[in-house]
Amino acid sequence: MYVEKTMIWEKLKTELKSILDERELNTWFSQIKFIGEDDNELYLKVPDESFLTTFKKNYLDLLYNTLKKLSLTDYNLNFIIARKNNGTKDHIIKKTKLSNIKTNINKKYLFDNFVVGPGNQFAYAISVGAAKNSHDYNPIYIYGDVGLGKTHLLNAIANYIHLHDKNKLVVYKTSKDFLDEMVYYLQNKKYSLFKEKYKKIDVLIIDDIQLISTWEETKKQLFFIFNEKYEQGKQIIISSDCPPKDIKNLEERLRSRFEWGIIAQIEPPNLETRIAILMQKANEKNIDLDISIAEFIASKIKKNVRTLEGALIRVYALSSIKGVPVTIGFVKEAIKDYIDYDKEKINPDIIKNFVADKYNIKAHELSSKNNSKKISFPRQIAMYLLKTILGMPVSKIGKEFGDKHHTTVLHSINKIEKLIKEDPVFEDEIYSYIKRFKDE
Ligand code: ADP
Ligand code: MG
Repeated sequence: MYVEKTMIWEKLKTELKSILDERELNTWFSQIKFIGEDDNELYLKVPDESFLTTFKKNYLDLLYNTLKKLSLTDYNLNFIIARKNNGTKDHIIKKTKLSNIKTNINKKYLFDNFVVGPGNQFAYAISVGAAKNSHDYNPIYIYGDVGLGKTHLLNAIANYIHLHDKNKLVVYKTSKDFLDEMVYYLQNKKYSLFKEKYKKIDVLIIDDIQLISTWEETKKQLFFIFNEKYEQGKQIIISSDCPPKDIKNLEERLRSRFEWGIIAQIEPPNLETRIAILMQKANEKNIDLDISIAEFIASKIKKNVRTLEGALIRVYALSSIKGVPVTIGFVKEAIKDYIDYDKEKINPDIIKNFVADKYNIKAHELSSKNNSKKISFPRQIAMYLLKTILGMPVSKIGKEFGDKHHTTVLHSINKIEKLIKEDPVFEDEIYSYIKRFKDE
């Protein structure tokens, strides 16, 4: 579609008029002056840098969607800062190619490149349903450990809607962004604008709700917006690293709202899914990944897809830097720091036996009341290893060693940490113990 360039800004504003209300248009868009055009460049003058920052943060999504709607994605947008007082020339501070405008939605995260397996298929199906406007569940609450694809799924929903339903306003935010935005509007006494803005949203996606601040006002506003969206029949999608009942600082009424709709947990992927994810990531990154290598990496890294991806990149980066082929032996060495401990196979007794053996004492002596250096030093090491390898809480560690007080455990761990820092030989030794368990 060919559009007379000078008309672009006008067209855009006309379009925006149908979406935004009078006040919002006056506050923001009337302060932007269309200066001119030149090839595929549009020049817009804004009052100052902070205006531009806020404008971009709050309206670039919308601008981007609107331009897309008008099929005008090939233009570069240049913002010029007006210099009012000191007589210096206006200057161009930003060039933003419209098609590349950064919204806070990550364009890379799609349903198409999300690998579905038993651990995530429920969350996936619900997300696809929401993207396709099924309205079966509201709100949708997706939770799972870090690195299991929550942000990916949430962005996939937003991207899908962008692509298939241009008239829908979808907003993706982390709970932290939500807070920042709210603070801005509050400080500038434009609170009603904030509310109006949220009123227009068709699909509201809030990532990492567990990070919601302790600030009462945020929760109050979230509660308000949440109820409003719900009553309007608009879709709300929330993610968290834990179920609603475990979110700290969450008041009861908000918690119970989160439980109104559907709750879907994402669990760590099984081996087959991990292999498929590696093949998918390799494909995206143009890495020629051998299936046996994928199987090996996937068999070692189990709990976090981000780590899985990181390991893959590290292996191929190292192989290319060193100019050596990717063999199992090479991979084993390259990913040693990434490997998840297999907590099912390693238990406190195995570690205690190992340490006792190294220091020529009996394992039960570690749990005795004997505080001679011969016993207490290996005991401190064993405590440190239980903490480092198994991530056990200090109170539990205490129980493993004949009911030692948790402050004793803490003192022991601190002592070993200090020694590690001071003595490289000791550091190597402890590291070799840890490594041994990783190779298990
Ligand atoms: P979370 O938000 O749960 O911490 P992310 O969505 O940020 O996790 O995922 C971490 C990385 O793992 C991202 O690069 C994402 O693309 C990838 N990832 C996670 N799950 C999958 C999956 N099922 N298929 C493809 N990639 C995945
Ligand atoms: Mg995330």
